[in-house]
Amino acid sequence: MLTMKDIIREGHPTLTKRADAVPLPLDADTKRTLKAMRQFLIDSQTPELAEKYALRPGVGLAAPQIDVRLRMLAIYTEDELFENHHDYLMVNPRLKAHTEQLTYMPGGEGCLSIDREVEGLVPRYRQVTVQTRLFDPKTETLSEDVTLKLKGFVSIVFQHELDHLNGILFPTRIKPTLEGVEPVRFKPIESEEEVS
Ligand code: ZN
Repeated sequence: MLTMKDIIREGHPTLTKRADAVPLPLDADTKRTLKAMRQFLIDSQTPELAEKYALRPGVGLAAPQIDVRLRMLAIYTEDELFENHHDYLMVNPRLKAHTEQLTYMPGGEGCLSIDREVEGLVPRYRQVTVQTRLFDPKTETLSEDVTLKLKGFVSIVFQHELDHLNGILFPTRIKPTLEGVEPVRFKPIESEEEVS
């Protein structure tokens, strides 16, 4: 299994390099890596495992973060309203289109490859259209190109991970304020609703 020791941190040269296209068809090694990336996210969101192995919870992971310089990424998360689950292993994803409208994470972004707190807001497109192949971890097959429309929180996660494929870390994008831009609005969890 992947643990935090497999995740390279800020200062490692791989994190500022553009990753290469994934050669197709996928070889066995690459398939294993894709499955391990997804499993890391699942493990990191499982409290007992996260505690046992000291995993920072993550909703996205890009291959360069485990020092694999290939254009592939994992996303495993709910949307901001907890309505839909997004579970993707993207191979050679491309940003095809985006809204002009921006959004941002109200508390700023975090990154498994960055151990320090980074103050500031990261402008992201509110909605993106992505063209990608998707790897199915159960059947170990790769789809043809599919088009996904992602919005809000999941759109931000995608843009953060796509940045990793292009050698960009979020601190280089931060702004102190974003006037006139609406943040992602998360549905409050129930305990918070009770106290407000
Ligand atoms: Zn990151």
